[in-house]
Amino acid sequence: MLQPDVVVIGGGLIGLLTAAELSERDVKVLVIEKDDVGFEQSGRSVAAVNLPGGEPNERAPLLRASADHWASFEERWGYSIDLNSEGWHIVITDDEDYEWLEVERATWQATAGYPETELLDAATARERFPQFGGEFLTVDVRHGGHVDALMVMRALRQVAEERGIELLCGEMVTGFDVEGDRVVAVRTTAGSLSSETVVIAAGIWTPDLCDQLGFHIPMQRVRAPAVETGPMPPGTIPGFVRGSRFGAKQNRNGTIRITGGYRYSGMLHDLSFRDLRDLKIWVPALWQNRKDISFRLNPSGLRAELVAKLAAVRSRNGSCFFPQRYEPPASPRDRFRQLEELARLVPALREARVHRSFSGVIDLIPDLQPVLGLVPDTVNAYVAGGFSGHGYMSGPGACQAIAELITTGASSIDLEPFRPERLRGSLKMREQIF
Ligand SMILES: Cc1cc2nc3c(=O)[nH]c(=O)nc-3n(C[C@H](O)[C@H](O)[C@H](O)COP(=O)(O)OP(=O)(O)OC[C@H]3O[C@@H](n4cnc5c(N)ncnc54)[C@H](O)[C@@H]3O)c2cc1C
Repeated sequence: MLQPDVVVIGGGLIGLLTAAELSERDVKVLVIEKDDVGFEQSGRSVAAVNLPGGEPNERAPLLRASADHWASFEERWGYSIDLNSEGWHIVITDDEDYEWLEVERATWQATAGYPETELLDAATARERFPQFGGEFLTVDVRHGGHVDALMVMRALRQVAEERGIELLCGEMVTGFDVEGDRVVAVRTTAGSLSSETVVIAAGIWTPDLCDQLGFHIPMQRVRAPAVETGPMPPGTIPGFVRGSRFGAKQNRNGTIRITGGYRYSGMLHDLSFRDLRDLKIWVPALWQNRKDISFRLNPSGLRAELVAKLAAVRSRNGSCFFPQRYEPPASPRDRFRQLEELARLVPALREARVHRSFSGVIDLIPDLQPVLGLVPDTVNAYVAGGFSGHGYMSGPGACQAIAELITTGASSIDLEPFRPERLRGSLKMREQIF
């Protein structure tokens, strides 16, 4: 193994794209991934993204940069990611949906890179989207669409191969050797290696690695189940469609991927030993969203956590271990209902059947903002995590910013709202989770 300048922990979207950005700046990078690229959130994502259109949002440089990156990804990196730019279509069917939309629109205006929206009455919407044969009141149309998460992962793996980024899969980072405020070595299951700089982009396991450096990230891990139908004719649904009980997009192979809706996400919180630590922060938020997130005792999750804890105790050197190849339980029952709801809007889906169900675990931070920058009290360990279910929306800008920080000491994108230090203050939970 060559001596890398930077070790990136995590081969998801954020780790791989940060590595690609660094290699563009002539940095020698090693990415360590405990499973395979995109095995956790990034390969399971719906990957709906905001895209350029209308006036860019000066207040939201991170999301604006990300939207621009997705629009130019294929040209810049040379691989297709099946970019769909047909728009986001938020379907409103009753007064409560309207109430949700009012709050959410304010957030969208403040945070989206290209925040223009167009509210269509039902007749106009039906004309523009003949697929929508069911009952609804209005459709809010936004600039955006989706990319194919697996194609993105494949593309980034190929970019890594072409540019000499080393990719070590199946090995785990278990901790760090620290001298003063500097990480001097990264401990892995394949041995220790020294590196000038470390980037922690480990998705839901980011807090455990940051704990090793004395920095605590209060993260709630929620399971987001998803299903896919069998192949349907092209154009069965336009772009990304969101209803109060479903979110859906069509993949290139014709299948429709369906997850939770904006008012009923159907997310599940698997109770875990880690929950005890941040109870004070999360209980009010969970109570407020009690209709939406349900709690489960998930034996396979607890078992995986216990096995990892035992390995940590056995190591006797304070290392942490993580579940490998952990498959969170799918929860197809709710998703059958979501397919039914979607079919109420799009009658062509009445005969569609669920062919595959799976889940991904999302990394929620109380203010739903990513955590980007130097790990406090260190000089060479960076964190890029806590994307709170929006890593495709904001990831490319974040990866550019982290690469700039590492190579020049400053980022052209304002990272103030994402400073890791903010998590040390009193955190306010966002009113709407999704
Ligand atoms: C069902 C679902 C739908 C989604 N839909 C959308 C959407 O429409 N739009 C959107 O913007 N976002 C969406 N998201 C969220 C988005 O997918 C994530 O925010 C994004 O993929 C996060 O990327 P990541 O690289 O930070 O994390 P991950 O993809 O989870 O990658 C982290 C990687 O680090 C590895 N790792 C962890 N610990 C270690 C260790 N100690 N050593 C080595 N490797 C380690 C893990 O194995 C993992 O592969 C969705 C997510 C899910 C699950």
